[in-house]
Amino acid sequence: MITVNFTGSVSETQRRAFEQAANRWDRIIDTSFAPVIVEDQTLNGINIDVSIEAIDGNQGILGQAGPTILRPDDELPIKGIMQFDLADILRLERNDSLKDVILHEMAHVLGFGTLWARMGFIIGSGGNNPQFIGTAATREFRTLGGNRLGNVPVANTGSFGTREGHWRELVFGDELLTGFLSGAERPISRMSIASFEDMGYLVDYTEADEFALPSFQQLAEKGITEAVRTCDLCRMNRPKPVVLNKKHNTQRSSIFMHS
Ligand SMILES: [Zn+2]
Repeated sequence: MITVNFTGSVSETQRRAFEQAANRWDRIIDTSFAPVIVEDQTLNGINIDVSIEAIDGNQGILGQAGPTILRPDDELPIKGIMQFDLADILRLERNDSLKDVILHEMAHVLGFGTLWARMGFIIGSGGNNPQFIGTAATREFRTLGGNRLGNVPVANTGSFGTREGHWRELVFGDELLTGFLSGAERPISRMSIASFEDMGYLVDYTEADEFALPSFQQLAEKGITEAVRTCDLCRMNRPKPVVLNKKHNTQRSSIFMHS
């Protein structure tokens, strides 16, 4: 089970958005792992510390989200954080994208894009065509009608955290887990769910939204281009996770990787 713990002032509407996101991901992935003890606390499932605080006003940094502590056995997250800049979150609420931004960022806490490199899922890193090679996601990509021989194209633009940490925008369009929040529906595809299976989660494919690969014309009609747009999701920093009880890994979550 995904548990969200709020600190500081988080409004009722904001709480609801985090809780709804947790419920959605709870239906998709099974996090009923054996309990572990972290800092004298027995933790079940995945625990996310949520806070909203003034960081640097509108724009600038949106916040940070990601796993902070990983389980010693399968290295899936036990704990994670989602911090948002107050000014930005009020704007996201006004333009009605808060719900999907939280759903998207929570996927990063669960490991989407944030644990791929360490799990060895990315090939072609740094080149024009980086791909995710997990077998389940690749199977779903091919079922969608993607390249019969290729793996899943991941973001090949953007800074660290965006690049190679999302599905590629110009292939997957409005899917929730591309690097840009585009379109109006933002479906969670079977392919996204499959990527969690590749990471080691038990998943429920019946929770997938309907999704088809968009044509170039559909991309154009939705105004999807990577060239000229503001990217809220690009402005999230990522914590650097540590594996529980792993002695030689002493880096703390306060050391951010630039996103
Ligand atoms: Zn993202």
